[in-house]
Amino acid sequence: MARVNDNFLKLPVSYLFTDIARKVNAFKATYPDADIIRLGIGDVTQPLCPAVIEAMHKAVDEMAVKETFRGYGPEHGYAFLQEAIIANDFAPRSIDIQPNEVFINDGAKSDTGNIGDILSLDNIVCMTDPIYPVYVDSNAMFGRAGDIVNGRWSNIVYVPCNAENSFVPPLPDKHVDIIYLCYPNNPTGTVITREELKKWVDYALSNDALIMYDAAYEAYIQEEDIPHSIYEIEGAKKCAIEFHSYSKTAGFTGVRCGYTIVPNDVTAKSAKGERIHLNELWNRRQCTKFNGTSYIQHRAAEATYSPEGKEQVRVTIGYYMENARIMRQALTDMGYNVYGGVNAPYIWLQTPDNMPSWEFFEKLLNGPQIVGTPGVGFGPCGEGYFRLTAFGERQDCERAMERMRNWL
Ligand code: PLP
Repeated sequence: MARVNDNFLKLPVSYLFTDIARKVNAFKATYPDADIIRLGIGDVTQPLCPAVIEAMHKAVDEMAVKETFRGYGPEHGYAFLQEAIIANDFAPRSIDIQPNEVFINDGAKSDTGNIGDILSLDNIVCMTDPIYPVYVDSNAMFGRAGDIVNGRWSNIVYVPCNAENSFVPPLPDKHVDIIYLCYPNNPTGTVITREELKKWVDYALSNDALIMYDAAYEAYIQEEDIPHSIYEIEGAKKCAIEFHSYSKTAGFTGVRCGYTIVPNDVTAKSAKGERIHLNELWNRRQCTKFNGTSYIQHRAAEATYSPEGKEQVRVTIGYYMENARIMRQALTDMGYNVYGGVNAPYIWLQTPDNMPSWEFFEKLLNGPQIVGTPGVGFGPCGEGYFRLTAFGERQDCERAMERMRNWL
């Protein structure tokens, strides 16, 4: 008889955002006229910028003509996009990336989830807590996370990030092999300084560990001297894989395009003790399990680097960051302890009187009719916190703050 992968049975029955949608739908069924403001899920609301639309139209027209039609693309993605990435995202920061180190994908979720394919099951995995749930769940699916005991996976080493440590992740107090870092952070909206990131790179180099660095929100960094890439830190090209996405940078959540950097110098050991280049393994994995993202998506992503594209993307990010500023200010004025929202489109607030985050969710839905995301959904250390996103429409952010003020 066929057997399932039992690791899937250990996962919580539904995904965080499915639970939220269920609760919101139930509320809507009871109060059909409710005017709910949704600041929960991290999806964008502004349309694609004109430079991207123009590039996509052009690419569609090329697909309609025999001479310019494209079928399967190159395994790593088209060279024109790899070159644009290197020239715009890395060269200006004096980071040397080779085209074969850039793997174009259909967004960061797939690769952050799939990267574990090329790594042994007995690696000890470390995550900052709270964190983007995909890293935890995908490791659980592989069988690397152990079992859930009191809300925590038994084999994962959690590194707490909370107000007490100013959201600066302490190094793990025991040996770990794989470390997931996400900066700017989802859900806390906080960033990591160069000095703190260097501690992690140094840890990885001296402990033969690997860092999975998710830079999906790097375009939101506003302050000087915050690293946009882990490769700004010396030695990181020997120990880190980095994930990027056009989803939040340029509104590609529905278009689907991103890329992963797997440097040629990153290695891990085989069972026989040989050093294996992960770039070669990942290439082998992708050639077998992934057939690329479309030519049209490539051209769309490339357009974000044209002078007009860059300016248009900058304006949209500015719009979201102004939403973040408005919400951060309003919530602070109301007396909440508020984090994030300066270099990231996420506001992370402490619930009043340590209220459990699902209870705060219910109160906010039933009172001012605002939907946010309970912090505990991102990990045990998210308990007592709540995430609001700045991806909404300006007037919705303003209305939400007005309602919260009146609710108080
Ligand atoms: N990484 C982080 C930290 C995210 O928050 C998200 C999406 O919310 C992703 C990756 C996934 O992005 P993509 O749309 O590129 O799959």
